[in-house]
Amino acid sequence: MKLLPASAAFELTHGRGRPTAAWLGRVDALLLMLREDQLEQLTEFPGGAAIRREHARLQCKIGGHFTVEIGTARPLCAVVGLLPPDAGAFRVLTLAAKMVQQLAPSRPARIGLAAFEGATETSGTSATEALLAALLAATESRPNAKQSPAPAWALQRVQVKGPGDLASTVAIESAAHLARWLTQLPPSVLHPTSYRRALASLARRHGWHMRVHDEAALRRLGAGAFLAVARGSARRDAALVHLQYRPRGGSLGAPIALVGKGLCFDTGGLNLKTPRSMLGMHGDMAGSAVVLATLRALTALEYPHPVDAWLAIAENRIGPDSYTQQDVVTAADGTSIQVTHTDAEGRMVLADALALASRTKPACLIDFATLTGACVTALTERLSGVFTNLSPLRDVLESAGRDSGERVWTLPMPEDFDEELDSQTADIAQCLLDGKGDHIYAARFLSRFVGAGIPWVHVDLSAAERVGGLAHVQAPVTGFGVRFATRLLSSPAFLAALPPHKVRR
Ligand SMILES: [Zn+2]
Repeated sequence: MKLLPASAAFELTHGRGRPTAAWLGRVDALLLMLREDQLEQLTEFPGGAAIRREHARLQCKIGGHFTVEIGTARPLCAVVGLLPPDAGAFRVLTLAAKMVQQLAPSRPARIGLAAFEGATETSGTSATEALLAALLAATESRPNAKQSPAPAWALQRVQVKGPGDLASTVAIESAAHLARWLTQLPPSVLHPTSYRRALASLARRHGWHMRVHDEAALRRLGAGAFLAVARGSARRDAALVHLQYRPRGGSLGAPIALVGKGLCFDTGGLNLKTPRSMLGMHGDMAGSAVVLATLRALTALEYPHPVDAWLAIAENRIGPDSYTQQDVVTAADGTSIQVTHTDAEGRMVLADALALASRTKPACLIDFATLTGACVTALTERLSGVFTNLSPLRDVLESAGRDSGERVWTLPMPEDFDEELDSQTADIAQCLLDGKGDHIYAARFLSRFVGAGIPWVHVDLSAAERVGGLAHVQAPVTGFGVRFATRLLSSPAFLAALPPHKVRR
């Protein structure tokens, strides 16, 4: 099983205007997304009469889709999706995924994607972008070690007609593929040693500077919270990996720092998980994969600001030296922590990652972590929770979620929650033992390690995995966060909300 996915190779062409008979002659299937009132515009569309006939016969509802054979030079399968007026990005992406699903059994290699001007102006994600994102997600490779794997759906050519920024879609979805691939890798393949090897190879490929703070370096830095978690592993391979992207000839203000939780496996530690809740814990590194993939997407998009990625890579295992309840450990910023639950390891490694990233005085800190079950209870797996210490960012965060189709909701983190985190033996208790509000206590805990005056966003990735997928992704591992983060960092409102001296605009 390979550590990194092969990138898909297919021909992508993009033109304005409407499909012609010649254009349709070069594809095996067509995905057409439009508003119901645009059906009237199909008069000159090749096969338009057949589509209108079938629509009238099926009485297809708005938001639904239907499949029809259209007779051009040869029979061609067309899947037509009917957009509701004012559909948001999530709805457009979800419809795109359902349309793509209709083609999955036949796996056509040459596909036409089409949308009419004006169908998705308000959505933040155009119809052609959504169709391409859904198609890329459906055809992407997935890690497996089967001797006879199911035949892959390999794309040869994708032809697009209609408005959209397809180069960005390809950059973001191929990065999200990397995040989904890494998150699916079994722990026998992706462990801290191999993860660090993969990062070194990606850093070389993308021109990032890479610095590895291994366990010895973390000891010198006083990162006692991180090291407490790493102690349970038989391998001394945990590390805080610092990757730096610097734009070519671009601005040199303070970097935007992204921090990711990278637990390659989480047994829960001595407070052991049950088999059912441990089964998916190879995916507890999803936050780090989202940060890595976002860095890759921003690099491909030639992002004009410097970005740092801090990946907290470790395993939470059981060994003779595992950390235990009532241990008191000291983080890199000097804060002592009373350990109360060894399965709350994410906030331990993030505490040191945030404290050490803060020393570089970033323009802002954004951390991504599959952190709490409480956030899933609060929001389900359909949205992720966000917390911030800079209130003007709230609307900016939620708009980036709406426009990217990866929806987030701002959750509260009032100061009085700190009362329950008071400890008899240390500066702060790690967590409470009843799960109530754990997502808020986790955010309060993390906020202690963010340097003074640094704008901070904490993303609790409750939507990292969902049975049946989410939006354009039909597989359970969603890669949630890559589209959101890329959209957020590219938003002028986001840069404008940061303190002016921090980001050179
Ligand atoms: Zn845990």
